[in-house]
Amino acid sequence: MNIIIFGPPGAGKGTQSKFIVNKYNLYQLSTGELLRNEIKNKTELGSQISSIINSGELVSDEIVSDLIEKFISNDIYKHKIIFDGYPRNLTQAKNLHNLLKKYKQKIDIVLKLSVSLETVKKRISERQNQEKRADDNEEIAIKRYKTYEKSSEPVIDYYKQSNLLKVVNGETGISEINSEISGLIDAMKGWL
Ligand code: AMP
Repeated sequence: MNIIIFGPPGAGKGTQSKFIVNKYNLYQLSTGELLRNEIKNKTELGSQISSIINSGELVSDEIVSDLIEKFISNDIYKHKIIFDGYPRNLTQAKNLHNLLKKYKQKIDIVLKLSVSLETVKKRISERQNQEKRADDNEEIAIKRYKTYEKSSEPVIDYYKQSNLLKVVNGETGISEINSEISGLIDAMKGWL
């Protein structure tokens, strides 16, 4: 079972991914986390991408594609990935499809967490106190939300057409969202 968790910044993708990983024995592939690690470890790639990430823009499709292929090609993770923060635009969605095909895999369900900009601003300001991410301030959060709005629609349509998309109300509390997601995954597992 491979899952995509999709939604704007602050929607709770990371929190919900960690819950799904524990409950269903999967591995979380967070492109944001992988990219932040490159910056933290002061790698060559990290120095190329830090200003892009800190300004709320997306890094290039080639960079993220390379990162995710390392994961998808590794047998340990086969059929056990939750994609958190990828794909973020239509090119990435098509890339992902081709990469999964190359390694004889597919996506089984796409969970879209829906939240308003107001909620995103509130959550990001709470997270700012806990995680100290350079891109978690109100101005950049709004920018990241707008970037999401601009690029996400074709991705949503793409997964709607293939009947994989499930919309989850991301405005409620963590445990309510947990149970809605569990219900959807359990129902889907019945079909697999
Ligand atoms: P996230 O942790 O998912 O909120 O991602 C933080 C930042 O990392 C984003 O604002 C982008 O700059 C970058 N990023 C993460 N995932 C992607 C992706 N799939 N494509 C391009 N940039 C990404």
